[in-house]
Amino acid sequence: MKTLLDEDELQAGVTQLATEITAAYGDRPLTIVGVLTGSVVLLADLIRLLDMPLRVGVLQASSYRSGTTRGQLTINSEMMLNVAERDVLVIDDIFDTGHTLVEVVAKLQDLSPNSVKTAVLLRKHGRQEVEFAPDFVAFDIPNEFVVGYGLDYADQYRNLRYLAVMEPEDLASHCP
Ligand code: 5GP
Ligand code: MG
Repeated sequence: MKTLLDEDELQAGVTQLATEITAAYGDRPLTIVGVLTGSVVLLADLIRLLDMPLRVGVLQASSYRSGTTRGQLTINSEMMLNVAERDVLVIDDIFDTGHTLVEVVAKLQDLSPNSVKTAVLLRKHGRQEVEFAPDFVAFDIPNEFVVGYGLDYADQYRNLRYLAVMEPEDLASHCP
């Protein structure tokens, strides 16, 4: 698989993200909501670069039922923290069509937070189908299917330390 972003590049991007988030919130207490499962690696790296009082919760949004085809989005928020009157920062791996973040933000807005912002590692070029922009973006990437650093193909490759493009021949040779 072709490497798109190596370990050092990813680390630099996450550090930049943390700098921007710190500039936006300062010392204000923050409630992070990680979108499972793709955000776990980013979540672990990012929160250790933030110094404000921090609470970390998660919810699960799944739309890629299998492979690279998009399915119906389901949100499971049973594990989430109370966000009422909190400043909430949603963390996700990638902003693709944008439907996931729009639906997650809408769900959170119903819970009376003080504010909701969004941060993503990646934004895919030319894919957005919604009138919405994430507040913090580490990398803009071309329209290709990527895996690694939390992102999966059929639940594999999340543990790669780099971000790789999964090309058609990689998909063909993928062993389940
Ligand atoms: P959206 O709702 O913005 O179209 O999709 C967001 C979700 O789709 C991401 O959280 C991620 O789980 C999945 N996704 C979108 N593009 C990619 C990709 O290139 N690779 C992987 N592994 N997942 C993707
Ligand atoms: Mg996801």
